Amino acid sequence: MRKKKGLALIGYGGMGKQHLKRLENVSEIAVLGVYDIKSAKKQAAKEQGWNIFETWEEVLRDPAVEILILATPNETHAPLAIEAMHHGKEVICEKPATLSVAEFDQVTQAAKETGRHFMVHQNRRWDENYRIIQQLKEEDRLGEIFSVESRVQGSRGIPDDWRRLKENGGGMLYDWGVHLIDRILLLFRETKPVSIFADLSYVLGHEVDDGFRIRLAFKNGARALLEVGTVNFIQTPEWYVCGKIGTAVIEDYELHGRYITLNGKLAKEAQPIETGAGLTKTMAPRNDGSTTEFSLPYVQTDVTDFYRNFVEVIDGHAEPVVKNEEVRQVLHLIELAFQSAATNQVILIESEAE
Ligand code: NAD
Repeated sequence: MRKKKGLALIGYGGMGKQHLKRLENVSEIAVLGVYDIKSAKKQAAKEQGWNIFETWEEVLRDPAVEILILATPNETHAPLAIEAMHHGKEVICEKPATLSVAEFDQVTQAAKETGRHFMVHQNRRWDENYRIIQQLKEEDRLGEIFSVESRVQGSRGIPDDWRRLKENGGGMLYDWGVHLIDRILLLFRETKPVSIFADLSYVLGHEVDDGFRIRLAFKNGARALLEVGTVNFIQTPEWYVCGKIGTAVIEDYELHGRYITLNGKLAKEAQPIETGAGLTKTMAPRNDGSTTEFSLPYVQTDVTDFYRNFVEVIDGHAEPVVKNEEVRQVLHLIELAFQSAATNQVILIESEAE
C-alpha cells in the first residue's frame, strides 16, 4: 500500500474543522496535526484529540508534513502559501485564493520556483445542484442555453467576524462570488466571457459588500446573472436556466425543481387569453400537451475526490481538478466586478490570448 501523505491543517475555524471531518474518508492522507494562531483554538483542537503544532515554524520544519491546508482568513492565504512552498510544502488553499491577480501571480510563481503544487478548494463545483445543471447542458436536454441565473440567498446578514472587514478580504463578492463565477465559467467553457456588469449591495452598512448582482455576457451570445444576497427572507430559485427548447429550475439545496421541454415547434399559435386586466396570446400558457415536464436527474457527487486528486497531482499521476489558470480568471473577473460596481459601467473583458 502507498504511504499516506502527512497533512497539517492551518486554521481551526469553521472550514478547518470541515476539512478534518472530510479527511476521515480519505485514506491517502494522514492528519498529523493542527496549527492555529490563537491559543484558544489550539486548546480546542487539543481537546478534540488533535496533535497540536505550537508555532507556524514548527509546522514548516516538520519533514513529515507534506501537505498543508490553509483554512485561514482570506488575506493570509498568499503569504502563508508562499512561505510554505519555500519550505517544501504542498498547499491546498481555501478560496478566495488571494485578494488580487497580482498576489495570485506571486503564489503561482512561488509554486513554479519551488516545484510545489498549489490547488484552491473550489468545492462548490461538487454541489449537486450545479452538477445537475452541468448534466442537463452536457446532455443537451434544454437545447442551446442562452440564459443562466445562479443565486445564493440567505437572511442572516454577514457573520460578525473577519468577513465584515475589508483588510481581511471580507464581503460576499470574495466569499461567494468566487464560487458562482468559477462555476459559470466552467459551465460555459466552450465559449468565453466578453463583458461584465456588477452591482454590489451595502444594505447592512458594513464596509464590505453584503451581496451583489453580476451580469456576464459570453461570446456565443449566452447571458448569466449571478446573484448573492444576505437579506433575503424569501429566496428566489438557485438556478433558472433557459435553453431554446427547455427551461430548468432548481429552487434550493434540497433540489426541489424540474425541467420542461418543448415537444414540437416553439411558435404554436394560441388563442388570446385574459390575464389580469389584459389580453395576450404571446404569454398564453401551454396547456395543450406541447411540452413535457421532467424530474431533475439524479447525480452523485463526492467532494472528497478533491483531496484524492491533489495526492495524485503531487505524485504526478493526474492533472489538477482545479487549475490555477481557472482560479486566476475568476480573480480577474472579481477585480473587474469591483471596477464595474465602482464606476457603474459595463466592462469589456479582454482575452489574454488575443
Ligand atoms: P474562521 O474565522 O472560522 O477560522 C479561521 C481560523 O484561522 C481561526 O481559528 C483563526 O484563529 C485562524 N487564523 C487566522 N490567522 C491565522 C494564521 N496566520 N495562522 C494560523 N491560523 C490563523 O473562518 P472560516 O469560516 O473557517 O474561513 C476560513 C477560510 O475558509 C476562508 O478563506 C474562507 O473563505 C474559507 N471558507 C471556505 C468555505 C468553502 O466552502 N470552501 C466555507 C467557509 C469558509
